Order: sequence, then structure tokens, then C-alpha cells
Amino acid sequence: MKRLSWEIELQCSQCGAPISLEETDRLSTCSYCHVRLYLWTSSQFCYCLPALKAPSENLIFIPYWRFKGIAYSVIPFEVRHRMLDATLLASSHRILPVTLGIKPQALKLRFASGEIQGRFIKPQRSLQEAVIQIQNQFGGLERSLSSYFPFHREFIGELGSLIFFPVFVRKGEVFDGILRRAIGPEKDLVFDETPAGIPDHWQIKPMSTLCPNCGNGLKGGPESALLFCAICHTAWNPSSGRWVAGQFEIVPGKRDGSVYLPFWRMQVAVKGVTLKSYADLARAANLPKMILPAWEAQEFYFWIPAFRVHPALFLRLSKQMTLFQPAEKTEAILPNAPFYPVTFSEGNAAASLKIHLANLLTRKKDYFPKLKEISIRSVESRLIFLPFDSVGADLVHPQLQIGLQRQLLTL
Ligand SMILES: [Zn+2]
Ligand SMILES: [Zn+2]
Repeated sequence: MKRLSWEIELQCSQCGAPISLEETDRLSTCSYCHVRLYLWTSSQFCYCLPALKAPSENLIFIPYWRFKGIAYSVIPFEVRHRMLDATLLASSHRILPVTLGIKPQALKLRFASGEIQGRFIKPQRSLQEAVIQIQNQFGGLERSLSSYFPFHREFIGELGSLIFFPVFVRKGEVFDGILRRAIGPEKDLVFDETPAGIPDHWQIKPMSTLCPNCGNGLKGGPESALLFCAICHTAWNPSSGRWVAGQFEIVPGKRDGSVYLPFWRMQVAVKGVTLKSYADLARAANLPKMILPAWEAQEFYFWIPAFRVHPALFLRLSKQMTLFQPAEKTEAILPNAPFYPVTFSEGNAAASLKIHLANLLTRKKDYFPKLKEISIRSVESRLIFLPFDSVGADLVHPQLQIGLQRQLLTL
């Protein structure tokens, strides 16, 4: 998926050389001294828009939520998706612009850090509230189109960060710190609290990308949610600010030239609809196959892509893989072949389960009105790499014959 992305500028912590990142990048590589760091934060990523040099002015940084992702809604009688890519003022000042408009696309952002002088205003509403507000605007649109309220909605975020917009006050007027234009009277700019500087937990923590086990360089793409060591065949998860070993398996390809794609295989607990065995799944999805008695005792898993891909393909791939239930023997070693990085986290995969369930069910008129009472959660998940054949510009699953255009995948 090629997307327009905003640019972040930072300095190499080792040699001071400038590094340019896209906002979804988590790995930063210095092209000068080759130091590679993984960027981690315990809360959201925080960026500042650059203020024009004005040494005499005290800058005040106003928070905006920046979110990007897919909003799914289950309506009569299909699963719809919509890309959300927006900014929204995180405080409640009428004089300030409600969104940042196109500013961040034209300017380079910097990570907010203690080195940036100014007062950072705390957001007054959460990211979730901001997303709901935008979704409600779209929701209103959907209702007027279909006259139904969606049965279920889920926002699967790719980004949820804070962007600080600089303003300053001069002679009773509030000025835009970028364009230096007056935007309103100072008296309208009242803050409940004015903490100085940026809180510690908002700052990024760069992590070494050397394997904690063997000291070799970990492998991953710029947007990887976790990294791998190809020497000791381990997966490393940055979730707590230090590398935690995780598990993974691969299904070895039968042919040469396989390319491996990662999937989250999730065992689920479902309430509100009978979905305990593969036979239940086959009935719910109305598989055009005879239900074998053995299926009644056969467990099944949801298979969800662990890489970012277009939402329509994300739903289709998950549905077909879940109905197919890959059951080949696995090994706990990394493939000696190209494999795609994990760019879709386990948490996001779990959050998308109900959408996949809605997409699988065939009697939508019976099931959709009951979706509110249906709950589904992951009880165990495992990262599994599956082999795809490389056929021209496509990757094709050998049994399912589903083709994915390579260019639709985020590397
Ligand atoms: Zn460097
Ligand atoms: Zn290692």
C-alpha cells in the first residue's frame, strides 16, 4: 500500500547526522554511521511542528491528535471500510483551528523532546474520543444513506500520535508560530493547567537493534512491530521498552522460491453464537462442502494477516485462510528465504476479530442484528509464516490460489 506520509526529521544519537523518517517508521538507520535503532514509546508518539525562529517569544504547544487507519462498519448487509486520515484539536479552544490541515505535509516534524523550549499543553480529550467524533460525522452520512445505524464499528489504527502546533502571544494576540499570523485574542486562550516541558513518558526511547541473545543485528522492515534474529531464530517484541522473546513458527514451503507471509493464528472464545468446532464454522459460513463427522471435534483458528494490506484484501485473505485452516507441520526456525516483516500487531489483529466474524457469517440478516450480543476474543495466538509462490508480480498461495500483488504489501 503506497501512502502519502509525513516526514519526521531527527538527529542520529551517535554521530548527530540528520535522519529522515516516515511517520509510520519504527526503525531508524543512520546513513552516516549505520547505527540502527528501534523507536519505542510507552504512550503515543509526540511530534512538534517547527516554529519559525523567534527567540523573544515563549512558545506554547497546542496538542492535535493525528490518526490514520481503517474504520470498519457492519451495515445491512455487508462489511464496509473507510480510510481515516485526519488531525483533530485535542483541546477545546474555539479560536484554534479544528484541524492542522495540510501543514504537516509541507513541513518536517520533529519528535517532541525536553530539548524543545516551550509550554506543552496536555490533550483534554483522548485519541478514542477524537476518533469517535470523526466516525460520528461519517456515521451521520451513512445513516442518511441507508437509514440504519451500523450494527458494529471498529477503528483499526495504524497511527495515533500527538502533533504539537506552536503558538505565541504578543500584545494581547495569539499568533500562529509557523506562519506568524494573528489567530485571535489572548483572552480566549485559557488553559486549565500549564505544565512546562514535555512529560517523560511522552518521549521516545530508542532501543538497540542487536539480538539480546547473541548480539547479532535483528532483522525487520522500517515499520516492523517486532524484529527477528536470523542467527538464533528468535522473535523479539519491544512492547515493554526492552526486548521480550516471542514465539513463531513457519510452514516450510514445498518448492524453491517461496516467499513467506506472517499471519496471526488465533484461538478464540465466542459468546452469542455457536462456534466451537470447524463444523460450526463450516455451517456459519455455509461452506459448499459436506460436513464430515470428524469436524465436530476439530478445533479451528482465525487466521489474520500480520502485515498491512488493503482492507478489502485483508478481509478476503483472512476469510479464505480461516475457512481453509492451514494444518501443515510447522518448524520454529526462520525461513532461509525472503519473509515479510510483521507490520500488523497482535493487538490490532485481536481488535479486528469481530469484523472478520461478521465477514464470515452467511446468514447476515439473522446474525448482524445480534452482533451487539456476540463477543469474540483471542485466548491464544501464534505468529505463523506461510509460504506463497512467487509468480511474476504476484504472490500466490499454493493451495488456495489467492494472489496478492506484491506492490499492495507494505514492506
Ligand atoms: Zn549516525
Ligand atoms: Zn540472536
